[in-house]
Amino acid sequence: MKVADFHYERPDSLAKALVLLSRDDADVQALAGGQSLMPMMNFRLAQPDTLVDLNALEELRGIREAANHIEIGAMTRYAMLEASDLVRKHIPLFSIALPHIAHSAIRNRGTIGGSAALADPAAEMPALLIALNATITAVSTSGERKIAAKDFFLGLYETALDEGELIKSISVPKALIENRFGFYELTRRHGDYAMAGVAIAAQHMAPLTGLRIVFFGVSDRPLDVTAIAETLEGQSATDTDIVEAACRAIGNQSLHGDLNADAATKTHLAQVVLRRALRGMNA
Ligand SMILES: Cc1cc2nc3c(=O)[nH]c(=O)nc-3n(C[C@H](O)[C@H](O)[C@H](O)COP(=O)(O)OP(=O)(O)OC[C@H]3O[C@@H](n4cnc5c(N)ncnc54)[C@H](O)[C@@H]3O)c2cc1C
Repeated sequence: MKVADFHYERPDSLAKALVLLSRDDADVQALAGGQSLMPMMNFRLAQPDTLVDLNALEELRGIREAANHIEIGAMTRYAMLEASDLVRKHIPLFSIALPHIAHSAIRNRGTIGGSAALADPAAEMPALLIALNATITAVSTSGERKIAAKDFFLGLYETALDEGELIKSISVPKALIENRFGFYELTRRHGDYAMAGVAIAAQHMAPLTGLRIVFFGVSDRPLDVTAIAETLEGQSATDTDIVEAACRAIGNQSLHGDLNADAATKTHLAQVVLRRALRGMNA
């Protein structure tokens, strides 16, 4: 199919983009890398009246170092993150996970802001942002506000963004030398969306402190089972202890089946990816 007719705007400043996006008499959508939005428009699953292209906006670009965090502009593409020395040094979990996101052609265009705003439950980036305790800066004609990643992803393709609001940047705390990170995903082919995956961050592994575990591809949103860490905090927990605690947490929440697997299989796969990610952290 071909896209339905739409108006196209390419503002040269963030202020102009926000005014265009604030119109409430039409369906106005932002265009970032277009790697999800354009296929959706081609299938006519999305039919915006107006597309506001963010690609000329300098204000949404760049990877900057601050004292305790790295600030990443929403229009930063996956390929830029992969090539960044700042990311390699300060956000090692990104460097582990980025090669698993789609294929290099898609990573050349797809953006961190687009992935967060889309909130695909099988996507890696939302889970990474929650595991890393990232903060999302949203901006609209009314001003800016900050939203913790753990409060941002509300459901299937649903976020805490209000109408007319854009993601401006994403701030990720710098990793400390003693921090440990884990990542594992199961896909049918490399580059496919995950059937199940997990992102893990811990301040220390032995004794265990500040553990965060977030699954993706198993529910209608990133599945954050970080609450289990309270029972293990400060202990010398083994991988088996962590997996058992995570299984109890998963058991209390309903996992969602999809075209790949039913809910029972997803529950099994969640255990498999967690065990393998933990093994990778200890290796
Ligand atoms: C074949 C294929 C395989 C893929 N595999 C994977 C995969 O394995 N894992 C994965 O995570 N993704 C995968 N993707 C999706 C890809 O990562 C997308 O690039 C990403 O999900 C969306 O980013 P984008 O910059 O392309 O956003 P776009 O497609 O341009 O936009 C997506 C949505 O976000 C909104 N938006 C964009 N930027 C902003 C902003 N700054 N503020 C507010 N709203 C905004 C748009 O209005 C739109 O609704 C795949 C895509 C394809 C085509």
